[in-house]
Amino acid sequence: VDALAHPEDSEFESALRPKRLDDFHGQPRVRDQLGLVLEAARFRGTSPDHVLLSGPPGLGKTTLAMIMAVELDSNLRISSGPAITHAGDLAAILTGLDAGDVLFLDEIHRLARPAEELLYLAMEDFRVDVVVGKGPGATAIPIELPPFTLVGATTRAGLLPGPLRDRFGFTAQLDFYAAADLGGIVRTSARKLGVDIRSDAADEIAGRSRGTPRIANRLLRRVRDYAQVGGHPVVAVAEARQALELYEVDELGLDRLDRSVLTALCKLFAGGPVGLSTLALSVGEEVETISEVAEPFLIREGLMMRTARGRVATPAGWRHLGMEPPAGSTP
Ligand code: ADP
Repeated sequence: VDALAHPEDSEFESALRPKRLDDFHGQPRVRDQLGLVLEAARFRGTSPDHVLLSGPPGLGKTTLAMIMAVELDSNLRISSGPAITHAGDLAAILTGLDAGDVLFLDEIHRLARPAEELLYLAMEDFRVDVVVGKGPGATAIPIELPPFTLVGATTRAGLLPGPLRDRFGFTAQLDFYAAADLGGIVRTSARKLGVDIRSDAADEIAGRSRGTPRIANRLLRRVRDYAQVGGHPVVAVAEARQALELYEVDELGLDRLDRSVLTALCKLFAGGPVGLSTLALSVGEEVETISEVAEPFLIREGLMMRTARGRVATPAGWRHLGMEPPAGSTP
């Protein structure tokens, strides 16, 4: 997936993050709704309701959590579901919070069950029960927590157990970005990086970024490398195209992983239907990588479908690989 990633990318990622809600491109509905949540909290002088952000990786969930803390003028604490292996880890984080803090929990759907139960109480009553001792002599000591706002992030809200989902006062579903919004993000990032890029070259990058700001920023950096090494002080559309071709990102934005999934589906499994785990195995990737990164994009582009019997290539999928769909294949 990250064939195009460089070790310094995460550094650049933080440098390119918008700091305020007004600088956050796209997602107008989420921005308006979140703006209102923040405004109301400021008006009342209280911590806003807990917020759940869902959507594929790289769409701005972490960025929004950071923006919330900035807009509320409060501290941001960051952790993630997989990093919390015991309920005690979470209790330590929660009891260390100051009043008004924003706690960002990434991949909250991967929180261990005991930690999840502890979180219910913390979200609802701002309290944790710390169990001391073992067996029949064990006692639960309640500890009051200061008011805080939990911002949970997940790739799909449906992955969360109902009781956890219900405890968020506001849920925002982030969607893939429109090309025009991504173009704006590329131009802003180019300015921040000091890259002189023509507007149509920025649009070219945006059009191949799978609706995802993180990918747009990453492709911009690869294009910049290419232009610098090739001695092009201004990035025009020709350089952008050549660079993206070199990095095997095609006109629709499919990268090597997407193409290998689609190719396996058509060539190895005659267009499907095939199960997700079989498909993942055949391209040597984790099931999660396929289901959360490649598949949502391929489905959105109309190249692949999810059916009750498994994954199926669409005629457009076959044609994208330069092959004719077999007669009688699903439309
Ligand atoms: P997520 O947490 O959803 O995986 P991030 O918040 O880490 O995504 O965003 C990934 C990168 O994309 C960051 O560098 C961020 O600057 C950029 N980005 C995301 N959304 C936007 C946006 N709406 N406007 C500008 N840049 C964005």
